[in-house]
Amino acid sequence: MATVGKVITCKAAVAWEPGKPLCIEEVEVAPPKAHEVRIKVVATGVCHTDWEYLFETGKGMKFRPFPLVLGHEAAGIVESTGPEVTRFSPGDKVIPLFLPYCGECERCLSPKTNHCKKNWTNMQAGVLADGTSRISCKGQQVYQFLGVSSFSQYTVVPDTSVAKIRSDAPLDKVCLLGCGVSTGYGAAINAGKVEKDSSCAVFGLGAVGLAAVMGCKVAMARRIIGVDINPNKFEKARQFGATDCINPRDYSKPIQEVVVEKTGGGVDYGLECVGSPAIMNAAFESTRDAWGTCVIAGWTETEVMSISVEKLLMGRTLKGTYFGGWKSVKDVPKLVDDYMNRKLKLDEFITEKLPLVQINKAFGLLKSGKSIRTVISLQDS
Ligand code: NAD
Ligand code: ZN
Ligand code: ZN
Repeated sequence: MATVGKVITCKAAVAWEPGKPLCIEEVEVAPPKAHEVRIKVVATGVCHTDWEYLFETGKGMKFRPFPLVLGHEAAGIVESTGPEVTRFSPGDKVIPLFLPYCGECERCLSPKTNHCKKNWTNMQAGVLADGTSRISCKGQQVYQFLGVSSFSQYTVVPDTSVAKIRSDAPLDKVCLLGCGVSTGYGAAINAGKVEKDSSCAVFGLGAVGLAAVMGCKVAMARRIIGVDINPNKFEKARQFGATDCINPRDYSKPIQEVVVEKTGGGVDYGLECVGSPAIMNAAFESTRDAWGTCVIAGWTETEVMSISVEKLLMGRTLKGTYFGGWKSVKDVPKLVDDYMNRKLKLDEFITEKLPLVQINKAFGLLKSGKSIRTVISLQDS
């Protein structure tokens, strides 16, 4: 290909500073270095975490360096590979991942966790293995969000943070497996280990929460209670398998008391998909004593939650999940298969498709609760 080994000039949405809308800019994307892959990004979802890093950095999120290219829920095609890359070739369809899987470390070899730490510190700091980013704009280094940066027509990621997927997968759908859907689905299946005939309550019915509802349904839970302050989410939640939907604003007492009453003692599984300590506590207190499990999927990096020790002592389990417990590189291709085999829904999460130039509109739709997932087409703009 004509671009191999050369800098590619393309369009990206750059976050110049926190709290300000993204700017569509021409950026330069350098060729991949050793163990790196340059990807032509075809489609990306817009996740709540992107919004939080832009508008909550230094508040609910730790401080991140700017300028930054956000985006971490994407699918694309390998344009070129750097030296020592053996598993990828130009033309391969791929999903870049914010969670690595090196396949060799103690964590990758353990069935107990998906928390591989390959390049971790650098990726959290917005750079790749050599301490620099491959994206620049107006002569300035632009940081890469969690090592991904999919709000750019091209990006470069470590080869331990890319899943190769089947060639017939529609990229504008399977991009959602790069974050939100995998996270919520795995929160139910892997972290919660939801059982047949159990009762569940899912707090927050955005993409992560709806995917958790889908996971509870696949696990054949008997009762799935959806909880959201936005009743417009209820119809979709029912389509995904929620048996009841409740709005905390319709009750004068705390929502956990409502759930406990409705279920005669609490649910077997409470899944938090909002990212607020108060709701995490409500999800925990909604679970029944003796064996209730609460899984936290919602994100905050700076806040703390307090829980009743007595409620924990009575036999409840509290756990968190990162990327739904999936071992990223290894498991995402299997989730793509599940979608292709109609075991897992993706199309139903997509409420809007927009070109890159309308990325700020996608943030607006997410924050106003009007969208579940907007998919941005990178190559149409
Ligand atoms: P979203 O904004 O689409 O959905 C959040 C939902 O929560 C909305 O429907 C909103 O109405 C609802 N909500 C807000 N306040 C509420 C309240 N008090 N009670 C009940 N519902 C309430 O967000 P999303 O993209 O689905 O992400 C959800 C959370 O998951 C975010 O915190 C995100 O950062 C986090 N996340 C975590 C991981 C992980 O690896 N653990 C991965 C992706 C996203
Ligand atoms: Zn995300
Ligand atoms: Zn590893």
